[in-house]
Amino acid sequence: MKKVEHIGIAVRELTTAIPLYEKLLNTPCYKTEPVASEMVNTAFFKTGETKIELLESTDPSGVIARFIEKKGEGLHHIAFDVEDIHAEMERLKQEGFELLNETPKPGADNKLVCFLHPKNTHGVLVELCMERK
Ligand code: ZN
Repeated sequence: MKKVEHIGIAVRELTTAIPLYEKLLNTPCYKTEPVASEMVNTAFFKTGETKIELLESTDPSGVIARFIEKKGEGLHHIAFDVEDIHAEMERLKQEGFELLNETPKPGADNKLVCFLHPKNTHGVLVELCMERK
């Protein structure tokens, strides 16, 4: 894994979370993007090498809505940049990690992504992401 690419934070509403994070980080939100397949709207901020991704649910049955219902707003996942997502998924499978998707899927910010089950990672939802070429 190359670096922490971004940190995902679950929020109830982007309309209030974006201006707050702009103040906190002292940098403008540079992109908002819906990911229909995940039922989320995302908003991105650059903080050096690592980005912050805010996630708002677009549907009460979506993963982010259910996460907030159970745990409240807050840290949702850590995403690692990988060179070759297919190879990394294979390696982690061999190591006994459970992948939440068997093939990489399109994520926000022009990425291919895969999530690991948090039960194998001490409760942390881990995302692998690779720039789509
Ligand atoms: Zn993410």
